Amino acid sequence: MTGILKNSCYLTVALDVPLTRFFEYSFTSEIVPMVGDRVIVPFGPRSLAGVVLGVSSATQLDRSKIREITALPNDMPPLPADVLALSRFCAEYYGHPLGQVLATALPVALRQAKVFISPEPSGVYQASDVGLLLANISARAPLQRRLAEMLALPMARAELAAVSPSAMKWLKTWLEAGWVSFTAALPDAIPLPLAAALANKDQQAAIDQIVDTAGFAAFLLFGITGSGKTEVYLQAIAHCLAQSCQALVLVPEINLTPQLEARFRARFPTARIVALHSGLSDKERVVNWLSASRGEAHIVLGTRLAVFTPMPRLGVIVVDEEHDGSFKQQEGLRYSARDAAVYRAHQRQVPVVLGSATPALETWHNARQGRYRLITLQHRAVGGAMPPKIEIIPMHRAKTVEGLHQATLNIMRDHLASGQQVLVFINRRGYAPVLSCGECGWLGECKRCSAKLVLHLKERRLRCHHCGYEEQIPAACPDCGNQDLRPLGQGTQRVEAALEGLFPDAKILRIDRDNTRRKGSLQEMLRQVSAGEANLLVGTQMMAKGHDFPSLNLVVVLNADAGLFSVDFRGEERMYAQLLQVAGRAGRAGTQGRVLIQTGYHDHPFYSQLLAQDYAAFADSQLDERRSMQLPPFAVYALLRAEAEDGALAKAFLVELQSVLADAPSVQMFEPIVASMQRKAGMERWQLLVMSDTRHPLVNALKRVMPMLETRNNKVRCILDVDPIEL
Ligand code: ADP
Ligand code: ZN
Ligand code: ZN
Repeated sequence: MTGILKNSCYLTVALDVPLTRFFEYSFTSEIVPMVGDRVIVPFGPRSLAGVVLGVSSATQLDRSKIREITALPNDMPPLPADVLALSRFCAEYYGHPLGQVLATALPVALRQAKVFISPEPSGVYQASDVGLLLANISARAPLQRRLAEMLALPMARAELAAVSPSAMKWLKTWLEAGWVSFTAALPDAIPLPLAAALANKDQQAAIDQIVDTAGFAAFLLFGITGSGKTEVYLQAIAHCLAQSCQALVLVPEINLTPQLEARFRARFPTARIVALHSGLSDKERVVNWLSASRGEAHIVLGTRLAVFTPMPRLGVIVVDEEHDGSFKQQEGLRYSARDAAVYRAHQRQVPVVLGSATPALETWHNARQGRYRLITLQHRAVGGAMPPKIEIIPMHRAKTVEGLHQATLNIMRDHLASGQQVLVFINRRGYAPVLSCGECGWLGECKRCSAKLVLHLKERRLRCHHCGYEEQIPAACPDCGNQDLRPLGQGTQRVEAALEGLFPDAKILRIDRDNTRRKGSLQEMLRQVSAGEANLLVGTQMMAKGHDFPSLNLVVVLNADAGLFSVDFRGEERMYAQLLQVAGRAGRAGTQGRVLIQTGYHDHPFYSQLLAQDYAAFADSQLDERRSMQLPPFAVYALLRAEAEDGALAKAFLVELQSVLADAPSVQMFEPIVASMQRKAGMERWQLLVMSDTRHPLVNALKRVMPMLETRNNKVRCILDVDPIEL
């Protein structure tokens, strides 16, 4: 039977299954698939999509056992070498099957075992003579005229379609008349935009360093909010586009993309800018991804998943707010998109710019060590603008009204009276973090997690913020029957209610995750703030990031102390970043902003460091502490977390892993302990920490336990998290 297959080849294929091994298939045809091609293959009774990792004319296996692939869809360019290399790196470093890493890298539509038919032909439309085209369009058809004017430059279908639902119909007529032509070719370099702001001296030096880079270099662009980092990105990208290259820009959150996208579009009106984040539909995502992979999109603006986007003409990578925790994925492939971006830039030999006002200590350490080049923007870019004035309001024994100090209230009143906006920041949504019984001490707790239920008064529910469990607010204490149940502590809803009483004339707007779930609702609220339709804002960290509100001059921070005593070793680092970021919302338009921080620990050294607003000094002192405690970045950690309904099983599994790792060279291990959140969604959680001074021994050691994680019995679920955010 064997041997009669002519022109057949054998393919090594990675499949989206939780196994580290690959699979072999045969293929018979004139065309030979390429490494990185997508294939559809039979897998048991199912059909799966996979990625070709190797092509060979021979096989070691019994040929009669090898099945033939079902299809070579040819619906995307093969994954390029750098994306494959990045995926391999992630598979090895984060201990995740390569097939699943590749699935993460692909948009959903291309993970499926069916041929994807692109709704959009690649290529661009352009008018050969705009004057001639306009002469054939009625003066009373403004949309058609606008479309015609756009066609002076090469335009992709999506951009034209956005002008009017009829755009494609008109375009078809013009194509037939010969006034417009379609080219499947790549667009040319984008001319440098004329509208670029004049960079100041610091910015110009930064831009020069970045664009003068030949090959790889990692830059840390360090500067406070408003120091002009985005302007530096824009100009470095302009340079990149002028060289016919593509730019990849990563931002921490979907919510930040529309604002940044608008700024990019205003700067590069002729460039093709595509977004890639989880807020898009599957169809939008695949269209944008393909446009980037074909080299058509000039700029890709996306969240962490965009780091895997194939870009044949990649010229620069930007990671904005690089310190942000959301660059680390917290499920499945637990990768850091920031680290992946640096790896990718190295693969492609292009510069990568990491921007932040409060760099991650890992990044800061790299800069201090000279591995990254530190570029500092010292001043706010807008003339005369000063960094905000931060003041501490000691709360110890203070008389308060609804958690607000009398001094705070007075200052708020003055600001509102003079027509300015005030933001009250509290990083806790809901009404109160817990409901309690004053008689017996009962506290409302989640039945499935070791966590308190958060009181949501508006919805009349108690909700678990960890597993989604919720119940009605009990009419009386379940333990003693006392009817006087009391909310303890404050959340955004409670602050909002308090402010309604205290400032009856203010236009109050609360912004948190609970009231911005609907698509577009956050945008609408931000618009209201910008338009001055609200003057007293209550918000969580959602408000803190990236949004500009010109008449916001006072920020009040409630409940600031949480990070000071957290078990998390990054508590202070994160708190500093967050407070400085919130502070950055105050006073962007020429006047000095004011920030009041209410704290019960005003003499904690943290606050003197914050008041100095000298992040470099703070980061250096934090690094000293980390060094003495052998914490990252001075050691590399991996966390193995086992979950089971029966905690004893979870622990036993970790003990087993421990014995397998026991003699791994240059690796230290701790004892299995219960996780800081012991129960979550009904599962008991245990964890085992493994560490090493450098990456290699740790990665090698973890390879030993990988097969055990794959074949885990179904009573225990175990995840591996390399470089975890919390230990
Ligand atoms: P960052 O990204 O560091 O927060 P931006 O780049 O957004 O800072 O700059 C803050 C503000 O200053 C923006 O309104 C921007 O348009 C403006 N700006 C930046 N650079 C300059 C410059 N060289 N001259 C004038 N205005 C500038
Ligand atoms: Zn009670
Ligand atoms: Zn829960």
